[in-house]
Amino acid sequence: MQSLNIIVVGAGIGGLQASLALAKDGHRVTVLESAKAFEESSQVGAGIRVPPNSHKLSTSWGVDFSKVKKDVSMGNRFVDWKGKMLLSLDFSDVEKRYGAPYYFLHRADLIKLLVDTAQENERITIRMGSRVEKYDFETPAVTLVGGEVVKGDLIVCADGIKSAIRDEINGRPLPPQDTGDVAYRILVPAQPLLDDPEMAHLVKNPWAMHWMGPEGHAVGYPLRGGELYNIIIDVTHASDCGEPLADEGQIWKSARSNSELVQRFHDWCPEVRKLCAMTGEYLKWKLADFDQLDHWVTPNGTAALLGDSCHPM
Ligand SMILES: Cc1cc2nc3c(=O)[nH]c(=O)nc-3n(C[C@H](O)[C@H](O)[C@H](O)COP(=O)(O)OP(=O)(O)OC[C@H]3O[C@@H](n4cnc5c(N)ncnc54)[C@H](O)[C@@H]3O)c2cc1C
Repeated sequence: MQSLNIIVVGAGIGGLQASLALAKDGHRVTVLESAKAFEESSQVGAGIRVPPNSHKLSTSWGVDFSKVKKDVSMGNRFVDWKGKMLLSLDFSDVEKRYGAPYYFLHRADLIKLLVDTAQENERITIRMGSRVEKYDFETPAVTLVGGEVVKGDLIVCADGIKSAIRDEINGRPLPPQDTGDVAYRILVPAQPLLDDPEMAHLVKNPWAMHWMGPEGHAVGYPLRGGELYNIIIDVTHASDCGEPLADEGQIWKSARSNSELVQRFHDWCPEVRKLCAMTGEYLKWKLADFDQLDHWVTPNGTAALLGDSCHPM
């Protein structure tokens, strides 16, 4: 197979994984990331679930999960907002059935692992502080802020949900649209949970807990081998407490104190109430989506969209 010079725009999970996969196939990859350092680009929420399919692909591209602290998921539990068990999906046979375990990871740890793996690969160059301003799909090439032109054989646009190039590739505006939901991303130390007999099981038995209630649900699981507990709460805008996130413009996140949270969940089961009370300042995120795309690839085949730029969760 011909070895290509490939430009990857964006060093999120998508861009980094694509770089590793392309390098594995013998291509040379230049990753252009607008953030100056990885701390800036890895703050999007604390926990991430890595199921066996992602695990197996990542491993085949050289990612070694033994280098990070993680928790092996025991399964998914769905509980109603008053604490009644609705469904328990046991994952004890997952590794046997699918060939890899199901992990809970800290997002920053996953990004660091991917970056370290990419930096050890002589076929991959990561350039931070390199914001792509213009695309030329004929050459193909990209122009960075400051005017530098970077040429390649192929461009992978992994620039996230606010992709600057999705519209051009599709010939119509495809702005992110508000789903009507807000996500609260919360991380608390696990020790206070371990000290509370009613809460300790959440850390000791790493199930992904899902508390389902009116106009919202909460998900919780431990991170870093039981050092931290990750909580994601999704609620509808209509049932959100406090000042709403702006509907328009660039306001996608905002820091809040836990008083809104305690008020919003005051009549939920003790586990959710206690998790809310343990929360300090946390971030609210607007959740967004967009119409299904007509095109993921340019007509001449020199550029392709990847990840949240074309299929956000
Ligand atoms: C609440 C929530 C929970 C989730 N949980 C999970 C989960 O458990 N498991 C899972 O697999 N997925 C999960 N996801 C989805 C997953 O987080 C995303 O799909 C993934 O992070 C997207 O990665 P990406 O690389 O496509 O985009 P991003 O992470 O957005 O990366 C885009 C990168 O491009 C850079 N960039 C943007 N524009 C430019 C430019 N012009 N020039 C250079 N660089 C640029 C940005 O700085 C950024 O680093 C979740 C998502 C949400 C919202």
